[in-house]
Amino acid sequence: MTLPGLSNLTGLENAQVLVRLDLNVPLADGVVQDDTRIEAALPTIKALLDRGARLALCSHLGKADGSPDSNCSLWPVAGFLAEVLGMEIPFVEDCLAPDRSAILAEHQVLLLENLRFHPGEKANDPAFAQALAEGFSHFVNDAFGTAHRAHASVSAAPSLFEKGYKAAGELMEREIQALSRVVNDPAQPFVAVVGGAKISTKTAPLEALLGKAERLLIGGGMANTFFLAKGLEVGRSLVEQDMLDTARAVMDRAEALGVELLLPTDVVVADAVSGTGRIEVVAAEAVPSHLLIVDLGPDSQKRYSQALADAQTVFWNGPMGVFEVDDFAAGTLAVAHAMASCPGFTVVGGGESVMAANKAGVEDRVSHISTGGGASLQYITGEPLPALTALEE
Ligand code: ADP
Ligand code: MG
Repeated sequence: MTLPGLSNLTGLENAQVLVRLDLNVPLADGVVQDDTRIEAALPTIKALLDRGARLALCSHLGKADGSPDSNCSLWPVAGFLAEVLGMEIPFVEDCLAPDRSAILAEHQVLLLENLRFHPGEKANDPAFAQALAEGFSHFVNDAFGTAHRAHASVSAAPSLFEKGYKAAGELMEREIQALSRVVNDPAQPFVAVVGGAKISTKTAPLEALLGKAERLLIGGGMANTFFLAKGLEVGRSLVEQDMLDTARAVMDRAEALGVELLLPTDVVVADAVSGTGRIEVVAAEAVPSHLLIVDLGPDSQKRYSQALADAQTVFWNGPMGVFEVDDFAAGTLAVAHAMASCPGFTVVGGGESVMAANKAGVEDRVSHISTGGGASLQYITGEPLPALTALEE
Protein backbone atom coordinates (compact mmCIF):
# COMPACT_ATOMS: atom_id res chain seq x y z
CA MET A 1 0.00 0.00 0.00
CA THR A 2 1.21 3.49 -0.67
CA LEU A 3 0.57 6.21 1.82
CA PRO A 4 -1.91 8.84 0.56
CA GLY A 5 -0.48 12.37 0.64
CA LEU A 6 -2.11 15.80 0.53
CA SER A 7 -2.33 15.66 -3.27
CA ASN A 8 -4.75 12.72 -2.92
CA LEU A 9 -7.33 14.85 -1.08
CA THR A 10 -10.32 16.17 -3.00
CA GLY A 11 -12.87 18.89 -2.24
CA LEU A 12 -10.78 20.89 0.23
CA GLU A 13 -12.25 24.33 -0.61
CA ASN A 14 -14.02 25.48 2.58
CA ALA A 15 -13.92 21.95 3.95
CA GLN A 16 -13.46 21.51 7.71
CA VAL A 17 -10.35 19.38 8.18
CA LEU A 18 -9.18 17.69 11.37
CA VAL A 19 -5.36 17.94 11.38
CA ARG A 20 -3.35 15.79 13.81
CA LEU A 21 0.05 17.40 14.44
CA ASP A 22 2.93 16.82 16.80
CA LEU A 23 2.88 20.08 18.76
CA ASN A 24 4.39 18.41 21.81
CA VAL A 25 6.83 21.26 22.51
CA PRO A 26 8.65 21.88 25.79
CA LEU A 27 7.00 24.61 27.90
CA ALA A 28 8.24 26.54 30.92
CA ASP A 29 5.84 28.87 32.73
CA GLY A 30 3.53 28.82 29.73
CA VAL A 31 6.25 29.83 27.26
CA VAL A 32 7.34 27.69 24.29
CA GLN A 33 11.02 26.75 24.86
CA ASP A 34 11.80 25.12 21.51
CA ASP A 35 9.68 25.71 18.40
CA THR A 36 11.24 22.97 16.19
CA ARG A 37 8.03 20.93 16.10
CA ILE A 38 5.83 23.96 15.41
CA GLU A 39 8.10 24.97 12.52
CA ALA A 40 8.00 21.41 11.21
CA ALA A 41 4.19 21.48 11.15
CA LEU A 42 3.95 24.71 9.13
CA PRO A 43 4.34 23.30 5.57
CA THR A 44 1.28 21.08 5.96
CA ILE A 45 -0.77 23.85 7.58
CA LYS A 46 0.16 26.26 4.78
CA ALA A 47 -0.46 23.72 2.01
CA LEU A 48 -3.97 23.04 3.33
CA LEU A 49 -4.71 26.76 3.77
CA ASP A 50 -3.56 27.39 0.19
CA ARG A 51 -6.25 24.98 -0.94
CA GLY A 52 -8.94 26.87 0.97
CA ALA A 53 -9.45 24.38 3.80
CA ARG A 54 -10.50 25.29 7.34
CA LEU A 55 -8.32 23.57 9.93
CA ALA A 56 -8.93 22.25 13.42
CA LEU A 57 -5.42 21.48 14.66
CA CYS A 58 -4.98 18.89 17.41
CA SER A 59 -2.08 17.33 19.31
CA HIS A 60 -0.98 15.89 22.61
CA LEU A 61 1.49 17.69 24.86
CA GLY A 62 3.57 16.58 27.83
CA LYS A 63 2.63 13.90 30.30
CA ALA A 64 -1.14 14.53 30.38
CA ASP A 65 -2.81 11.27 31.28
CA GLY A 66 -6.57 11.21 30.83
CA SER A 67 -7.63 14.36 32.67
CA PRO A 68 -7.10 18.14 32.32
CA ASP A 69 -3.68 19.29 33.53
CA SER A 70 -2.88 22.99 33.28
CA ASN A 71 0.87 22.26 32.93
CA CYS A 72 0.16 20.45 29.67
CA SER A 73 -2.20 22.93 28.04
CA LEU A 74 -1.66 23.70 24.36
CA TRP A 75 -2.84 27.25 24.99
CA PRO A 76 0.66 28.83 24.66
CA VAL A 77 1.04 27.10 21.29
CA ALA A 78 -2.10 28.84 19.96
CA GLY A 79 -0.49 32.21 20.61
CA PHE A 80 2.76 31.11 19.04
CA LEU A 81 1.01 29.79 15.93
CA ALA A 82 -1.11 32.92 15.61
CA GLU A 83 2.07 34.96 15.51
CA VAL A 84 3.96 32.88 12.94
CA LEU A 85 0.93 32.45 10.69
CA GLY A 86 -0.18 36.06 11.11
CA MET A 87 -3.80 35.15 11.78
CA GLU A 88 -6.20 34.90 14.66
CA ILE A 89 -6.27 31.31 16.01
CA PRO A 90 -9.07 30.64 18.50
CA PHE A 91 -8.18 28.12 21.21
CA VAL A 92 -10.87 25.55 22.05
CA GLU A 93 -10.52 24.41 25.66
CA ASP A 94 -11.90 20.92 25.13
CA CYS A 95 -10.96 18.94 22.04
CA LEU A 96 -14.54 17.59 21.87
CA ALA A 97 -16.30 20.96 22.34
CA PRO A 98 -19.57 21.00 20.36
CA ASP A 99 -19.01 24.53 19.01
CA ARG A 100 -15.85 23.63 17.06
CA SER A 101 -17.67 23.68 13.73
CA ALA A 102 -19.34 27.03 14.39
CA ILE A 103 -16.00 28.63 15.37
CA LEU A 104 -14.36 27.19 12.25
CA ALA A 105 -17.09 28.64 10.05
CA GLU A 106 -15.83 32.05 11.22
CA HIS A 107 -12.07 31.32 11.21
CA GLN A 108 -9.52 29.59 8.96
CA VAL A 109 -7.68 27.82 11.78
CA LEU A 110 -8.39 26.84 15.37
CA LEU A 111 -6.38 24.85 17.90
CA LEU A 112 -7.98 22.17 20.09
CA GLU A 113 -6.83 21.52 23.66
CA ASN A 114 -4.57 18.54 24.48
CA LEU A 115 -6.12 15.28 23.22
CA ARG A 116 -4.72 13.37 26.20
CA PHE A 117 -6.95 15.30 28.62
CA HIS A 118 -9.47 12.58 27.64
CA PRO A 119 -8.72 8.96 28.60
CA GLY A 120 -10.20 7.83 25.27
CA GLU A 121 -7.19 9.15 23.33
CA LYS A 122 -4.59 6.70 24.66
CA ALA A 123 -7.23 3.94 24.94
CA ASN A 124 -8.00 4.24 21.21
CA ASP A 125 -11.65 4.44 22.27
CA PRO A 126 -14.03 4.33 19.27
CA ALA A 127 -16.58 6.60 20.98
CA PHE A 128 -13.91 9.24 21.66
CA ALA A 129 -12.67 8.93 18.07
CA GLN A 130 -16.22 9.36 16.77
CA ALA A 131 -16.74 12.49 18.88
CA LEU A 132 -13.35 13.89 17.81
CA ALA A 133 -14.06 13.34 14.10
CA GLU A 134 -17.65 14.63 14.30
CA GLY A 135 -18.36 17.41 11.80
CA PHE A 136 -15.11 17.07 9.83
CA SER A 137 -15.10 15.98 6.20
CA HIS A 138 -11.33 15.36 5.96
CA PHE A 139 -8.50 14.11 8.16
CA VAL A 140 -4.77 14.78 7.89
CA ASN A 141 -2.08 13.23 10.08
CA ASP A 142 1.34 14.88 10.22
CA ALA A 143 2.36 13.58 13.66
CA PHE A 144 5.08 11.09 12.76
CA GLY A 145 6.33 10.98 16.37
CA THR A 146 3.15 9.18 17.49
CA ALA A 147 2.72 7.03 14.38
CA HIS A 148 3.71 3.88 16.31
CA ARG A 149 1.02 4.38 18.96
CA ALA A 150 -2.49 3.00 18.51
CA HIS A 151 -4.11 6.12 19.94
CA ALA A 152 -7.57 7.36 18.94
CA SER A 153 -6.52 10.51 17.05
CA VAL A 154 -4.11 8.59 14.81
CA SER A 155 -5.78 5.16 14.65
CA ALA A 156 -9.54 4.91 15.39
CA ALA A 157 -10.35 8.45 14.12
CA PRO A 158 -8.79 8.19 10.62
CA SER A 159 -10.44 4.80 10.18
CA LEU A 160 -13.75 6.69 10.13
CA PHE A 161 -12.78 8.60 6.94
CA GLU A 162 -13.00 7.22 3.41
CA LYS A 163 -10.23 7.12 0.80
CA GLY A 164 -9.67 10.55 -0.74
CA TYR A 165 -10.66 12.22 2.51
CA LYS A 166 -7.64 11.28 4.62
CA ALA A 167 -3.93 11.74 4.05
CA ALA A 168 -0.48 12.00 5.56
CA GLY A 169 0.92 15.50 5.85
CA GLU A 170 4.19 16.65 4.28
CA LEU A 171 6.37 15.91 7.31
CA MET A 172 4.97 12.39 7.63
CA GLU A 173 5.51 11.76 3.92
CA ARG A 174 9.12 12.95 4.09
CA GLU A 175 9.79 10.70 7.10
CA ILE A 176 8.40 7.66 5.32
CA GLN A 177 10.28 8.43 2.10
CA ALA A 178 13.59 8.67 3.97
CA LEU A 179 13.07 5.63 6.16
CA SER A 180 11.78 3.45 3.34
CA ARG A 181 14.94 4.24 1.41
CA VAL A 182 16.91 2.79 4.35
CA VAL A 183 14.65 -0.23 4.79
CA ASN A 184 13.91 -1.19 1.19
CA ASP A 185 16.95 -2.11 -0.81
CA PRO A 186 19.45 0.36 0.72
CA ALA A 187 22.52 1.24 -1.36
CA GLN A 188 25.56 -0.70 -0.08
CA PRO A 189 27.68 -0.40 1.89
CA PHE A 190 24.89 0.28 4.37
CA VAL A 191 26.41 1.10 7.77
CA ALA A 192 24.13 1.03 10.83
CA VAL A 193 25.30 2.80 13.98
CA VAL A 194 23.45 1.84 17.14
CA GLY A 195 24.24 3.18 20.59
CA GLY A 196 22.41 4.85 23.44
CA ALA A 197 21.75 3.65 26.91
CA LYS A 198 20.25 0.19 26.65
CA ILE A 199 20.12 -2.76 24.29
CA SER A 200 16.72 -3.78 25.70
CA THR A 201 14.96 -0.82 24.01
CA LYS A 202 16.55 -1.61 20.61
CA THR A 203 16.59 -5.38 20.25
CA ALA A 204 14.08 -5.59 17.38
CA PRO A 205 15.67 -2.80 15.29
CA LEU A 206 19.14 -4.33 15.87
CA GLU A 207 17.90 -7.64 14.50
CA ALA A 208 16.22 -5.97 11.54
CA LEU A 209 19.36 -3.95 10.72
CA LEU A 210 21.46 -7.13 10.75
CA GLY A 211 19.45 -8.33 7.78
CA LYS A 212 20.13 -5.17 5.79
CA ALA A 213 23.45 -3.58 6.78
CA GLU A 214 26.97 -4.64 5.78
CA ARG A 215 28.44 -3.12 8.92
CA LEU A 216 27.00 -2.62 12.40
CA LEU A 217 28.79 -0.20 14.73
CA ILE A 218 27.84 -0.62 18.39
CA GLY A 219 28.55 2.05 20.99
CA GLY A 220 27.14 3.77 24.06
CA GLY A 221 25.95 2.01 27.17
CA MET A 222 24.67 -0.94 25.15
CA ALA A 223 28.22 -1.86 24.09
CA ASN A 224 28.93 -2.71 27.74
CA THR A 225 26.42 -5.55 27.65
CA PHE A 226 28.22 -6.92 24.56
CA PHE A 227 31.55 -6.68 26.41
CA LEU A 228 30.12 -8.61 29.34
CA ALA A 229 28.66 -11.23 26.98
CA LYS A 230 32.18 -11.69 25.58
CA GLY A 231 33.52 -12.25 29.09
CA LEU A 232 35.18 -8.84 29.56
CA GLU A 233 35.04 -6.90 32.82
CA VAL A 234 33.14 -3.61 32.67
CA GLY A 235 33.69 -2.24 36.19
CA ARG A 236 30.79 -0.10 37.37
CA SER A 237 29.50 0.59 33.84
CA LEU A 238 25.82 0.59 32.92
CA VAL A 239 24.96 -2.99 31.91
CA GLU A 240 21.88 -5.11 31.45
CA GLN A 241 22.59 -8.50 33.04
CA ASP A 242 19.37 -9.97 31.66
CA MET A 243 20.31 -9.03 28.07
CA LEU A 244 23.50 -11.10 27.75
CA ASP A 245 21.74 -13.72 25.63
CA THR A 246 20.40 -11.02 23.33
CA ALA A 247 23.88 -9.56 22.87
CA ARG A 248 25.26 -13.05 22.14
CA ALA A 249 22.45 -13.69 19.65
CA VAL A 250 23.21 -10.43 17.82
CA MET A 251 26.92 -11.33 17.58
CA ASP A 252 26.14 -14.87 16.38
CA ARG A 253 23.65 -13.67 13.78
CA ALA A 254 26.09 -11.02 12.52
CA GLU A 255 28.71 -13.71 12.06
CA ALA A 256 26.26 -16.06 10.31
CA LEU A 257 25.14 -13.30 7.94
CA GLY A 258 28.64 -11.99 7.28
CA VAL A 259 27.82 -8.58 8.82
CA GLU A 260 30.91 -6.83 10.13
CA LEU A 261 30.08 -6.01 13.77
CA LEU A 262 32.32 -3.42 15.40
CA LEU A 263 32.66 -3.00 19.15
CA PRO A 264 34.91 -0.41 20.81
CA THR A 265 38.52 -1.55 21.24
CA ASP A 266 39.32 1.27 23.65
CA VAL A 267 37.06 3.30 25.91
CA VAL A 268 37.00 6.41 28.07
CA VAL A 269 36.43 5.52 31.72
CA ALA A 270 35.56 7.84 34.60
CA ASP A 271 34.56 7.93 38.26
CA ALA A 272 31.07 9.15 37.46
CA VAL A 273 28.85 9.91 34.43
CA SER A 274 28.59 13.49 35.71
CA GLY A 275 32.09 14.20 34.37
CA THR A 276 33.79 15.00 37.64
CA GLY A 277 36.77 13.09 38.95
CA ARG A 278 39.25 10.90 37.14
CA ILE A 279 39.07 10.33 33.37
CA GLU A 280 41.29 7.85 31.46
CA VAL A 281 41.48 5.97 28.19
CA VAL A 282 41.91 2.21 28.56
CA ALA A 283 41.70 -0.86 26.32
CA ALA A 284 38.28 -2.50 26.31
CA GLU A 285 39.92 -5.54 27.97
CA ALA A 286 41.33 -3.43 30.80
CA VAL A 287 38.45 -1.52 32.39
CA PRO A 288 39.31 -0.94 36.08
CA SER A 289 36.72 -2.40 38.46
CA HIS A 290 36.07 0.94 40.22
CA LEU A 291 35.46 3.01 37.04
CA LEU A 292 32.76 3.14 34.41
CA ILE A 293 32.73 3.37 30.62
CA VAL A 294 31.47 6.71 29.30
CA ASP A 295 32.69 7.05 25.69
CA LEU A 296 34.62 5.55 22.75
CA GLY A 297 38.39 5.85 22.99
CA PRO A 298 40.45 7.51 20.21
CA ASP A 299 41.31 4.23 18.46
CA SER A 300 37.63 3.24 18.32
CA GLN A 301 36.71 6.70 17.04
CA LYS A 302 39.17 6.21 14.19
CA ARG A 303 37.92 2.71 13.34
CA TYR A 304 34.27 3.81 13.40
CA SER A 305 35.01 6.85 11.25
CA GLN A 306 36.85 4.65 8.73
CA ALA A 307 33.92 2.23 8.67
CA LEU A 308 31.66 5.14 7.71
CA ALA A 309 33.95 6.74 5.14
CA ASP A 310 32.61 4.88 2.07
CA ALA A 311 29.02 4.37 3.30
CA GLN A 312 26.26 4.69 0.69
CA THR A 313 23.55 4.43 3.36
CA VAL A 314 23.76 5.24 7.09
CA PHE A 315 21.15 4.84 9.81
CA TRP A 316 22.23 6.17 13.17
CA ASN A 317 20.34 5.75 16.42
CA GLY A 318 21.84 6.24 19.86
CA PRO A 319 24.87 8.26 20.99
CA MET A 320 28.28 6.59 21.42
CA GLY A 321 28.78 7.89 24.95
CA VAL A 322 27.46 10.26 27.60
CA PHE A 323 27.67 13.08 25.04
CA GLU A 324 25.74 15.51 27.28
CA VAL A 325 29.03 15.90 29.21
CA ASP A 326 31.58 17.65 26.96
CA ASP A 327 34.47 15.46 28.16
CA PHE A 328 32.52 12.35 27.09
CA ALA A 329 31.21 13.64 23.75
CA ALA A 330 34.22 12.98 21.48
CA GLY A 331 33.09 9.53 20.30
CA THR A 332 29.59 10.71 19.44
CA LEU A 333 30.89 13.83 17.68
CA ALA A 334 33.46 11.81 15.70
CA VAL A 335 30.75 9.46 14.45
CA ALA A 336 28.45 12.39 13.63
CA HIS A 337 31.18 14.08 11.56
CA ALA A 338 32.14 10.85 9.79
CA MET A 339 28.49 10.25 8.91
CA ALA A 340 28.08 13.81 7.63
CA SER A 341 31.19 13.45 5.46
CA CYS A 342 30.34 10.11 3.87
CA PRO A 343 29.06 10.09 0.27
CA GLY A 344 25.80 8.25 1.07
CA PHE A 345 22.22 8.82 2.14
CA THR A 346 22.21 9.43 5.90
CA VAL A 347 19.38 9.23 8.43
CA VAL A 348 19.51 10.08 12.14
CA GLY A 349 16.69 9.04 14.49
CA GLY A 350 16.13 9.18 18.25
CA GLY A 351 15.65 11.97 20.76
CA GLU A 352 19.21 12.12 22.10
CA SER A 353 20.74 11.24 18.73
CA VAL A 354 19.14 14.30 17.14
CA MET A 355 20.45 16.44 20.00
CA ALA A 356 23.89 14.92 19.41
CA ALA A 357 23.75 15.70 15.67
CA ASN A 358 22.88 19.29 16.56
CA LYS A 359 25.71 19.44 19.12
CA ALA A 360 28.08 18.24 16.37
CA GLY A 361 26.69 20.94 14.07
CA VAL A 362 26.03 18.44 11.28
CA GLU A 363 22.24 18.82 11.09
CA ASP A 364 22.46 20.45 7.64
CA ARG A 365 24.82 17.79 6.31
CA VAL A 366 22.72 14.70 6.99
CA SER A 367 20.06 13.68 4.48
CA HIS A 368 17.24 13.28 7.00
CA ILE A 369 16.76 13.93 10.70
CA SER A 370 13.80 11.94 11.95
CA THR A 371 11.44 13.73 14.32
CA GLY A 372 10.18 10.47 15.81
CA GLY A 373 12.58 8.22 17.73
CA GLY A 374 10.23 5.37 18.66
CA ALA A 375 8.31 5.57 15.39
CA SER A 376 11.45 5.47 13.24
CA LEU A 377 12.81 2.46 15.17
CA GLN A 378 9.51 0.64 14.75
CA TYR A 379 9.47 1.45 11.04
CA ILE A 380 12.98 -0.02 10.72
CA THR A 381 11.79 -3.29 12.28
CA GLY A 382 9.16 -3.67 9.58
CA GLU A 383 6.33 -3.81 12.11
CA PRO A 384 3.29 -1.85 10.82
CA LEU A 385 2.71 1.61 12.31
CA PRO A 386 -0.96 1.98 13.39
CA ALA A 387 -1.16 5.56 12.07
CA LEU A 388 -0.03 4.54 8.59
CA THR A 389 -2.33 1.52 8.51
CA ALA A 390 -5.31 3.75 9.36
CA LEU A 391 -4.49 6.16 6.50
CA GLU A 392 -3.87 3.40 3.95
CA GLU A 393 -6.95 1.25 4.60
P1 ADP B 1 18.10 7.97 21.53
O1 ADP B 1 17.20 8.89 22.30
O2 ADP B 1 18.89 8.70 20.51
O3 ADP B 1 17.35 6.79 20.97
P2 ADP B 1 18.86 6.57 23.90
O4 ADP B 1 17.69 7.17 24.60
O5 ADP B 1 18.85 5.11 23.65
O6 ADP B 1 19.16 7.34 22.54
O7 ADP B 1 20.18 6.82 24.76
C1 ADP B 1 20.69 8.10 24.97
C2 ADP B 1 21.41 8.18 26.28
O8 ADP B 1 22.38 7.17 26.40
C3 ADP B 1 22.14 9.48 26.41
O9 ADP B 1 21.47 10.29 27.33
C4 ADP B 1 23.54 9.09 26.88
O10 ADP B 1 24.01 9.86 27.96
C5 ADP B 1 23.35 7.66 27.30
N1 ADP B 1 24.61 6.89 27.20
C6 ADP B 1 25.38 6.74 26.11
N2 ADP B 1 26.48 6.04 26.42
C7 ADP B 1 26.41 5.73 27.74
C8 ADP B 1 27.26 5.02 28.64
N3 ADP B 1 28.40 4.48 28.26
N4 ADP B 1 26.86 4.92 29.93
C9 ADP B 1 25.67 5.47 30.32
N5 ADP B 1 24.84 6.14 29.53
C10 ADP B 1 25.20 6.28 28.22
MG1 MG C 1 16.28 8.67 24.22
